[in-house]
Parts: sequence; C-alpha cells; structure tokens
Amino acid sequence: MNLIDAHTHLPGRSFGGKPRPIADLRREFANAGLCGAWIFTTDGLVMEAEKNNNILAEAVRGDRDFFEPFGTVNPHAGEDAAIRELERMRFELGMRGLKLHPWLQGFSLTHPSVKPILQRAGEMGLPVLFHDGTPPYSHPLQIAAVAEQVPSTMVILGHAGLDEAYEDAILACRRHPNLFLCLCGPSCGPLAEIVRRCPVDRLLFGSDGGFGSRVIETAIAKFHAAGLSQKTLQTIGCENPRRLVPKQPRRTDPPAQTHQHET
Ligand SMILES: [Zn+2]
Repeated sequence: MNLIDAHTHLPGRSFGGKPRPIADLRREFANAGLCGAWIFTTDGLVMEAEKNNNILAEAVRGDRDFFEPFGTVNPHAGEDAAIRELERMRFELGMRGLKLHPWLQGFSLTHPSVKPILQRAGEMGLPVLFHDGTPPYSHPLQIAAVAEQVPSTMVILGHAGLDEAYEDAILACRRHPNLFLCLCGPSCGPLAEIVRRCPVDRLLFGSDGGFGSRVIETAIAKFHAAGLSQKTLQTIGCENPRRLVPKQPRRTDPPAQTHQHET
C-alpha cells in the first residue's frame, strides 16, 4: 500500500509542542505505514508566516522525496504582501501547496484578500487546504462559498467538516467540482458516509500526523473500522494526492529561483 498523508504538521513551539528533527518525524511516519506526506507549519499558523515558511522549507530540504511542504500566508497582511509571499514560497522555497487556517489566523472568508490569494494559488498550480469544521470562520459552507468563486483552484477541506459539520462538507463536495475533502478527523460513522456519498476521486487520507503520538496509526485503523475497502484506501490515499501534487524528480534543493525580487 502506498499511502500518502495529506494532512501533517511540522511540530513547533505552539500548542505546548517542541521542534523535532525531521529524520525522527520521517521514521515515525514511515513506520506508521506512510510513503509520503504533505506537511504544514504549525507555528506559522499562529505567528510569523514568512519566517515559518522558511523554517519548514529548510527542515524538509533533504527529504523532498517524502515530504511535500505547504506554506502559508496571512490574508491580514493585505493582498499585495500576501501574494508576494505566496509567490516567494512557490518559486523560491518550492512549496507544493497553500495551507490556510481561518480559525487560528483569525480571518473571515469574506476578507478582501482571500479570493485573490486563492486565485493566484490556482494559477500557480498550488492546491489550497483549509482547516475547517470549527466556527466561526471555518464552516465547510463558508469555505465552499469562496471555492465557488475560484473554480480553477483546487480547494480542500482539511477535516471534512469534522463530526459536527460533515454533512455540510458532503453537500459542498457534491456541489463544487473543485472541492476536495481530507478525511482527517471525522469518526468511523461519518467517515463511511462521506465515502459513500462523495465522488471518491475527491477524497484524501489525512491524520494530523506530527501532533501527538500514534495519530497516523489511529487514522488508518479508523479507515479499516469504517469498513472501507483496500481499493478505496488506495484511491484516496495514493492516486488522489498524487494527482493534486504530482511527484517531482528527486532532488535535495528547492528549484532555482525563476523570479527576480527586489530586496
Ligand atoms: Zn491540522
């Protein structure tokens, strides 16, 4: 089984955590059964997005055959600054996607910077993964309303609505062809219902790996407990994430800078 986890975090100093060597994290993830992981900052969602984008890129620099880093920007920085950072993290740091967390980053989906950020991410081929499932700013239908305005951008609900809002996440996924659900969080019953009612090619496996111990093993066990077939897990856990973030040729360095930036 080639299982890619589409929702993991680089441990940082926030939430009582402490940074860990990437080699330890990779070993832990591989031992849990993963062959790759999309990885997000933790600290950068609560402070200093740029600095933490640099920290994440540097951390996974020698492990890009396993980790696909997703950077972040804060819409409160304003449209110009946020898009500048989005382009920097894409072209200079080689990030493969954008992670946004309206709840921790404290922005409304109606903030005027949000749509242009999503638009630009889509133009650059970056999928955008949102934290979702917790009010006030992270309800699946609030995110779906923005996704509808940027049909060329692939938008992912990072928690498929959690147990409290998974039914709305299902509606959103069925309604918007650019909306994906990452099954990180919902318990067995909702998980099975999501898989039964949504297009299977728009579902992803995720665990919040990097937070706590054995979260990946627990997420995998939940799939089996929900009665999902090995074939479904293969589609969700391998084919779909590879389609959104295609594997790149092995290299140890981020891609050469393609844009000139003033300092
Ligand atoms: Zn997360």
